[in-house]
Amino acid sequence: TTIFVSGANGYIAQHIVKQLLEQGHTVVGSVRSANKGEYLKELTQSNKFSYEVVSDISAPGAFDDALKKHPDVTVFIHTASPVTFQADDIERDIILPAIQGTKNALTAIKTYAPQVGRVVITSSLGAVFGFDEYFEKDKVYDEDSWNPIKYKESLLNARNGYYGSKKFAELAAVEFVENEKPKFAISFVNPSFVFGPQAYAIKDKNQLNLSAEVVNKVLKLKPTDNIPVFAGRFVDVRDVARAHLIAFEKDEAINKRLLMITSLASNEQIAYYINRHFPELPIPRGDLKKSEEQLKGSHKYDNSRTKALVGFDFISLEDSVVDSVQQVLDTK
Ligand code: NDP
Repeated sequence: TTIFVSGANGYIAQHIVKQLLEQGHTVVGSVRSANKGEYLKELTQSNKFSYEVVSDISAPGAFDDALKKHPDVTVFIHTASPVTFQADDIERDIILPAIQGTKNALTAIKTYAPQVGRVVITSSLGAVFGFDEYFEKDKVYDEDSWNPIKYKESLLNARNGYYGSKKFAELAAVEFVENEKPKFAISFVNPSFVFGPQAYAIKDKNQLNLSAEVVNKVLKLKPTDNIPVFAGRFVDVRDVARAHLIAFEKDEAINKRLLMITSLASNEQIAYYINRHFPELPIPRGDLKKSEEQLKGSHKYDNSRTKALVGFDFISLEDSVVDSVQQVLDTK
């Protein structure tokens, strides 16, 4: 099978590309520049990987040429989307690229790649859970939940902007399928914070992408530093990638959202696991009591339907942290 992966050089996407190649698939990845494409081609060391440059996913017709060139593509995985909690212009830089990028991908598939049978969109927990004032403390969030944030509210700050971008991009895809009745079937993967090692080499260990940097930041603390509070949920990147493959392989995943959450997670736990496995590293001691305190009152959730559908055991926080740290230590 030939599979198109948008944003192929991203943290999660590189794992998707790697797993697809390991399964014997052919992969066409889209990236924003030829440099990024060449870099990824070098990393994959595979002649089954090629790339197309799509410099701006929000431009009308962004994916048309790339798909016209590859009539063999039958699965499309759309991961490209701004991943940031900072922007000069929230709507222009975060929300519109997410929504327009999704619409452009689906329109191109419908128009120029009618042979595509399955589409997988990387959405987010941000489309499912409410945060801050949108958080409902007694609610049990599951695969059917939607962040109640309104479009206008998503413009108020960049955090809202990111969550809104994922919600409104996912909704745009749902509406596209309802209105346009394309030939393809669609599935969504909604990960919580994603930790874990890079698929291939680390490019710059001083600064990883937004979510992998959570663990890296703890690793960079000095012994006398306070551990900054992070208390949320996590899932390992290798499991997130695997879910994208299952999303197009299994018919049960059609029109479903795979809510990828392994467990609650905090910086105190991350530090604790680093202390336990790398006692020689001079970082502050993680405190599991503190962690418990910090995680009290976290969102309640139930993703048992997703766990049953994907059918594999999720990688634990401890293993994820150990593998991430080992990779950073092994990187010169
Ligand atoms: P990365 O930042 O590593 O990857 C993002 C990818 O999207 C890169 O290829 C990037 O290109 C591309 N991209 C970003 N903005 C644009 C834009 N305006 N136009 C074109 N391409 C763009 O992040 P992740 O791998 O973490 O994220 C991948 C997907 O997973 C995203 O859809 C994200 O919302 C989702 N997700 C991530 C979570 C996480 O914790 N990491 C949690 C939940 C969902 P370039 O490299 O050129 O910037």
